[in-house]
Amino acid sequence: MCVITLAKKRTGVLAPKRFVQRVRKQNELFRSYMHQDAHEFWNFLVNDIIDILEEDCRTANSSPETTPEEVSNGAANALANGARERPLVTLVHRTFQGILTNETKCLMCDTITAKDETFFDLSIDVEQNSSLTSCLKSFFSTEILNGEDKFFCDKCSSLQEAHKRMKIKKAPHVLVIHLKRFKYVEQLSRHKKLSYRVVYPLELKLGSMSEDADCEYSLFAVVVHVGSSPNHGHYVSQIKSHGNWLSFDDDTVQISEESTLQTFYGSSREHCGGNTDHGYILFYERLGGKS
Ligand SMILES: [Zn+2]
Repeated sequence: MCVITLAKKRTGVLAPKRFVQRVRKQNELFRSYMHQDAHEFWNFLVNDIIDILEEDCRTANSSPETTPEEVSNGAANALANGARERPLVTLVHRTFQGILTNETKCLMCDTITAKDETFFDLSIDVEQNSSLTSCLKSFFSTEILNGEDKFFCDKCSSLQEAHKRMKIKKAPHVLVIHLKRFKYVEQLSRHKKLSYRVVYPLELKLGSMSEDADCEYSLFAVVVHVGSSPNHGHYVSQIKSHGNWLSFDDDTVQISEESTLQTFYGSSREHCGGNTDHGYILFYERLGGKS
């Protein structure tokens, strides 16, 4: 397993156990026995590794993994001293970064205002007895801005009704999708785990959700949350390696069947007990070698 370390020697290969020890040593948050959210850990890891690679690149500027490149649409990074410098494209950017475009169309003058933002994963709402594709379609569906939510159109110089929608402008090499299974319920004043059944496919087509409609992905990893509550539980994962699915549960690694993935879809009825193992973060790799 190849991971980028947080050690003095800042990049290289490290055994998983040693990697976790290193993370806990350097970050107070992960030192306690409190339960941490896998999606928050993913965000932490991505950002921390980028910081390390960028810093290494600025000091050494020689590693092939951290060759500086200009981000095609990116704005310059603001430095602490107020200076501006060209953003760097690290291995993490090349692997996981995509670009979303937010389009707002004024219904009075038809002018489209577009704004781009980068992402390392998509966090999507889940619905009961649905599929990943239908949840993604809701995420990318057109929203009508009216009433108090009217849009200020520069061309009309006034508030107007508008259509707003998001699209993937640049699809990442690895598409990470976080299913929002932990939802804050106001009546309960706490988070609740949604055990909803959400079927995820082995092959995912983005279709009209992406500017590149032919964009296709293949599932290669699933992080599974085990447990019925957001406060307690356990994480296991299923990862495809050399054509085989492997099941990772702490120190236990076993070959598993592809059909096992279906056991993590969720429950079609709430409060039915039984299986509490649910797909939580999905990793899809782009097919066709494009990035
Ligand atoms: Zn307008």
